[in-house]
Parts: sequence; C-alpha cells; structure tokens
Amino acid sequence: MRVLLPSRKVDLQMPNKRLVGGIELGGTKSIVAIGYNDGTILERISLPTVVPELLIPQIAAFLQLHREQRGEILALGVGAFGPISLDPNAPNHGKLLETNKPGWSGFDLASALRSATGLIPNIVTDVASAGIAEAHLGALKASELGVYLTVGTGIGGAIIYHGKPLPALLHPEIGHVALQRHSTDTAPSSCRFHTNCAEGLAAGPAIMARFGQSLRHFAPGSAEHDLIADYLGQLCANLVLTLSPQRIILGGGVGQTPGLIDATRAAMLDRLGGYAPDAVAYEQFLCAPHLGQDAGIVGALCIAGHGSAISENLSGGCKSWQL
Ligand SMILES: [Zn+2]
Repeated sequence: MRVLLPSRKVDLQMPNKRLVGGIELGGTKSIVAIGYNDGTILERISLPTVVPELLIPQIAAFLQLHREQRGEILALGVGAFGPISLDPNAPNHGKLLETNKPGWSGFDLASALRSATGLIPNIVTDVASAGIAEAHLGALKASELGVYLTVGTGIGGAIIYHGKPLPALLHPEIGHVALQRHSTDTAPSSCRFHTNCAEGLAAGPAIMARFGQSLRHFAPGSAEHDLIADYLGQLCANLVLTLSPQRIILGGGVGQTPGLIDATRAAMLDRLGGYAPDAVAYEQFLCAPHLGQDAGIVGALCIAGHGSAISENLSGGCKSWQL
C-alpha cells in the first residue's frame, strides 16, 4: 500500500475567491483564461503561439475585455514553455533562455506581461503549472512528492513537493535525461543537444521521424509501441530511483496514446528489476492526469497572486498562501 502522509501543502483556498487571470504559454498554442484562484475557469481563449510582439497584445486585449465585463483582475499566473529563468534573484528573471521557438530566445516575458496588463505575473513552467493543479485538485492530491511528466512535442517534467515545484537552480529538464538506446534503434535523435536523451528518442517528433506516423497507429504490444514504452519506462525507473515519488503522472499528446501508460508501467518495473517499493507496481502509481488537458491553465489560475507578485497585487495578509 502506498503510505499517505499527512498533507502539509500550501493551502490555496482563500476565504473569498479572487478574480484572476491565467496564461498557459505552450509551444504551439496558448490558453488565456479568466477565473478564480481556486482553479475555476470562467472564460478562456486559445491562441496560436506566434511571435511575442503579436501574442502579448492579444493576451492583454482578452484580459482587458473581461476586466470591463467582470471587474478588476487581481493577479496573473503563468505556466510558460522553457527554458526560462525563474530565480527571482537572477537579473534575467522571467526571461526565456535559448529556445528553438522563433522570436522567443531572450524574450523578457515577465516585463512584457507586466507592461501590457498592469499585473505582475507569477511564472512557473507549463509542466509545473499542470503539476500544481494536479496536486491541489487532481491525481497528486494525496501525494507529498509527485512528478508530472508530459510527453508531446517535447518531454518535460516537474517535481511537485507539498503542492509546489521544488526550488531549483533552473527548472528540472527531465526530458533530457540520457537513456539506454536499443541496439537495433538507429534513428537519429530529435534533440539537437543529445543523441540518447528521452526527448530525442521518445517525444512526438522522434516518433514521427522514426515511424512516419504517430504512436496511435500502432497497437499495444507492437514493436513500435513497446520501443517507446521502454524508453518512457526507463525514464520513470530513473525517477523512482532518484526521487522515490509517491506517484508519477504521464500526460501530453503522446502520453494519451491508448495503452501507453500500462505498457510504460510494465517497462518501468522490468527496468527496476524488482528493486523498488511494492507501491510502484500499483496501477495508479503511474497514471493519467485527472484534470486532462485543463491541468496547465487551471494551475496558472491557482498560482495567480502567489510568489513575488503577491505583495504588490493583493492586499496584506495573503503571504500565508505564498508559493
Ligand atoms: Zn536532449
């Protein structure tokens, strides 16, 4: 049985719900929402993630429209693709680092959102935003330490402890952990930095380049399905051995492939070779996100008003909720 320890999570339930904004800045599309800081979504819009000079004004216009209709928006939470500097003491805090996404390398996201909306954004990674939502409202509610993995156009991961991401030098880059490549797998890595990392071997672009179609076209038990499940199983086994999480969530577009979570769990156990707590063999140890595709934007609403943004956006007394 998985041991459930008493929760000491940060309590995000405020006495009165606050109207806030949330942004899930994705590599392909971005979601902007108005809602409450308990994760309730009132209105949302999906926008293509074009260059920042075009996207930021669209985000600001959406927030302004609903400000006029619903009243003052008190805070803004953001889950953003990375890599991005999130150290509040760093001079480049809130800036994107070198990225393949055209127009975004070095972009000062925090300053741009602040000037466009008048709100100080609280920014975490997109996968951390999803993990926070699952910790407070979904599959990680009973876990003190959990991992949220997303497998889609890339592989990202967040380590959630007591309902918030672990403090870190940068954010975790779990997708770039090196794996043991199958000797018969000679496909080039889709990661430009590494030849054998998880993202380069098992993310959506690697699957498309190797098989010519998405994993959904291959039945569970096929060689193609098993290969990807083994790579993801290796990644999960590494997480079990390094972090000993109480649960791992597998989300993202590739993660939704029918049968992939079960096959990944079997591969993880095989790779662990019996050297792990019994709890990792339970079906729900490795599971799909309970909030589905909404996890990222729900998390963005939940973190609005927390972190460094809190003292300027919300009245005193809110620091007890600080993430
Ligand atoms: Zn890599």
